[in-house]
Amino acid sequence: MANQPEKVVIVGSGPSGWTAAIYAARANLEPLVYEGAITEKNRQQGTIPLGQLALTTEVENFPSWPSGDTRAYLKTALPEHLQPYWVSANKPQPTHGINGPELMELCRQQAKNFGTRVETDDIVRVDFSKKPFELYTAGGQTVTALTVIVATGARANYLGLPSEDKFKNHGVSACAVCDGALPRFRNKPLVVVGGGDSAVEEANYLSKFASEVAMVVRRDVLRASKIMADRARQNPKIKLRWNSAVEEVLGNDKDGVTEVRIKDVKTGKVEEYAAGGMFCAIGHTPNTHFLDGQLELNEKGYVKWTTAGRTYTTVEGVFAAGDVSDDYYRQAVTAAGTGCMAALDAERYLGHHGMI
Ligand code: NAP
Repeated sequence: MANQPEKVVIVGSGPSGWTAAIYAARANLEPLVYEGAITEKNRQQGTIPLGQLALTTEVENFPSWPSGDTRAYLKTALPEHLQPYWVSANKPQPTHGINGPELMELCRQQAKNFGTRVETDDIVRVDFSKKPFELYTAGGQTVTALTVIVATGARANYLGLPSEDKFKNHGVSACAVCDGALPRFRNKPLVVVGGGDSAVEEANYLSKFASEVAMVVRRDVLRASKIMADRARQNPKIKLRWNSAVEEVLGNDKDGVTEVRIKDVKTGKVEEYAAGGMFCAIGHTPNTHFLDGQLELNEKGYVKWTTAGRTYTTVEGVFAAGDVSDDYYRQAVTAAGTGCMAALDAERYLGHHGMI
C-alpha cells in the first residue's frame, strides 16, 4: 500500500519555515521540513540550510534578544553537538545577545522538540496539479503532501559581470560572514557593492579584517536604515564612493582578485582600485525556481498571496511564508510571523476539508 501523504510539508528552514513547523507540530500535524542540502552549490548561491540568518552576524532586532551573556541558556537549549564553538570551547562570547546561526539553531531545535521531522535535502521539483501534491527531492525521493508551505526565502544577487563570475570563490563573494575572515582578504582594501542594510552590515564586518573597505553606491544616498547608515559613516575604515559602479573585476589565477575597476557615473572617471576582494550586497532573488511556474508570482518574482492577510497562493492547499513571498518587509521577525500564519492557514484548510 502507498504511504500515507504527509499532512504538512514545509520547504525551507529560515525563520518562517521553523515557525511554521513549531505551530504545525503543536497542532499535531507532524510536519516534515525539507531544510535544504549542505552542498557547495548551495553554499555558493547562499541557499544553505537555516536561510539567510545563517549568513549573518548579530541579530539586534529580533524581539526577546537584548544584549547579555547567552552562554548558560545555549548550553541548556541546544544539544551538545549544536552548541556554538565559543560555548563548547569556553571562549569569550563574540557578540552580545544572539547571532543569526544561533537563533536559527534554536528555532530548529524548538521545532524538533515538538516532533518536527527534518530532512537535510533540497526539493528540486513539485507537482501541484496532483492531489495529494508531489514533491521531488535532490536525493531522488518523492514525498506526497496534503498541504505544502513554501518558505524557501531569497538569495543574494550578483552584478552579472563575466569577470565577477570568473573570480567567484577567488575573491568575489556575496557573504562577508562566510568568507570575510579568509587569509586572502586580511589587511587588504576590499570593495562592497550596494547601499542597503546588507551592504553596511557586510562593510562593517569586513572592516575588522580589511585595511579599508570601499562601499560602491550607485546613487548619492544610502538605502540603509538610519542606524545602519550612521554606522557606515562613523566607521573610519569605510570609504563611501557615491554615484559609482563596478565595471570589471581584475585579477589572475594565482592571486585571485587584485583590482576592481570603479566608474564614477557622474564624471565618467574610471579608477582601477587595488583590492583583494569584492562583496556584492545588492539585494535578493526569491528562491522559486523549483516551483517551475506552478504558483503565480508577482511582478518582482515573489510568490503571490491571493488574499490580503492570508498566506494563500494560487494553488489551494499550498501556502507561502517569509521572504519568498515578501518583497517589502523582509525581516526575520516578519518571516516568523508569516510562518505562523501559514501553519494556521494549513491547519484550517485540513480541518475544512475533513483531512484531520
Ligand atoms: P536592499 O535594501 O534592496 O538594498 C539593495 C542595495 O543595492 C541598494 O542600495 C540598491 O541601490 C543597490 N543595488 C541594487 N541593484 C544594484 C546593482 N545592479 N548595482 C549596484 N547597486 C545595486 O537589499 P538588502 O540591503 O539586502 O536588504 C534587504 C532587506 O533586509 C531590507 O528590508 C533590509 O532592511 C533587511 N536587512 C536588515 C538588516 C538589519 O536590520 N540589520 C540587515 C540586512 C538586511 P538603490 O538604493 O539605488 O536601489
